[in-house]
Amino acid sequence: MAQPKYTTHVGMDDILPGEVEKWQTVEEIIRETAREFNFDEIRTPILEQTELIARGVGQQTDIVSKEMFAFERGDDQYVLRPELTAPVVRSYIEHHLDQRGGTQNLFYIGPMFRAEKPQKGRKRQFHQFGAEILGSSEPVADVDIIQLMMRIYEKIGITNTELKINSVGTPEEREQYVQALRDHFRPHESELSEVSQRRLEKNPMRILDSKEDEDQPFIEKAPVIIDFLGKQSMQHYKRVKELMEHNEIPYQEDPHLVRGLDYYTHTAFELISPDLGSQDALGGGGRYDLLAEEIGGPSTPAVGFASGIERLLMACEALDIDLHREAAVDVYIVTIGQKANDWALSKLKVLRNKGISATMDYQGRSIKSQMKDADRENARYTIIVGEQELSDNAFTLRDMQASEEEALAFEEIVDRLSQHSTADVKS
Ligand code: AMP
Repeated sequence: MAQPKYTTHVGMDDILPGEVEKWQTVEEIIRETAREFNFDEIRTPILEQTELIARGVGQQTDIVSKEMFAFERGDDQYVLRPELTAPVVRSYIEHHLDQRGGTQNLFYIGPMFRAEKPQKGRKRQFHQFGAEILGSSEPVADVDIIQLMMRIYEKIGITNTELKINSVGTPEEREQYVQALRDHFRPHESELSEVSQRRLEKNPMRILDSKEDEDQPFIEKAPVIIDFLGKQSMQHYKRVKELMEHNEIPYQEDPHLVRGLDYYTHTAFELISPDLGSQDALGGGGRYDLLAEEIGGPSTPAVGFASGIERLLMACEALDIDLHREAAVDVYIVTIGQKANDWALSKLKVLRNKGISATMDYQGRSIKSQMKDADRENARYTIIVGEQELSDNAFTLRDMQASEEEALAFEEIVDRLSQHSTADVKS
């Protein structure tokens, strides 16, 4: 077969029928869980101002320094959003959401874009779901955000995960820590990997994320941030851990978990799956009390998480979790002849208006092919219609599973099926 002329860009996938149903299941579970936790959905544009992302995410990060899909049009600088925390905070400031009172508990689902080198679990267009609590500095918010994230995975059936937590303190505490890290790594500079050498001056905390073998002995002995935390930071961290224990959320402290972004303060966390291979982070997040001010808003303590849907699906595959909620149609109208075909089209509307999903043949096929097609579409019932049926107002309703048939008037069919439609799964 000839290769198609046009294809998707590398690292960007079509999500085809057959696969898309899994996404819908995951999205339904996310929305349902967010509702249980009293989080409202927010949707923001795919394109943001480049400056917002640069400031919000941080110049030194890989996301900003290497991975932005950015372009100019007229006088404006656009970037395809690489994450959603900064845009959500932008929206919160722009629309004065704080004036709605209380905390703003928001969640989102959508595509993100990073010009990374594509590999397993690393795409250039990928999808995240996430949530933010804006307007609280209390440890209960940190723990409830973690509970929301964990609950989504639990409902999907991904339970063999590892939750790592740490505190990254305040910027002042971090500055001292960063200096200590430089002092620690500098004598071994020439023994470090090339990437870590580059990070030593600019962003030595990122060395802690290195997977390079030659860096490991020095990372193991590196100072830990916890030793640089002041009384208030320690108190916050201690409360978070107490609440986690009280709520029976298993976690492991990881003293080297720093999550590279500049805006994090205090709590940082990451959810790891042993079923993912080298890109093993399902999701992560933390507190970012200074981000709103950093991008020109009022002081707004906040905490949030973001998780990747592609990785979630990879974990489901590794764990043999079947996300297919079987796609089925309630009724397939099988028609014989033009008159029956016209009749069927008008009756589809009657059925659908009653919440009964319905379809028919669009290709003028034989009865046999139509019955086959009804099977392929997983139709629960077929209605068979020819000239005779039309003049008698008596149609054969066939229950496809039970292989039973009954002759009924169309109105009786509608009544019967109203009691069984797939649309009534949710009340
Ligand atoms: P981050 O915003 O980098 O902390 O990412 C949060 C989560 O989004 C990660 O744990 C991944 O599940 C997912 N993620 C981040 N970058 C990618 C990517 N390039 N491809 C697929 N998933 C990603």
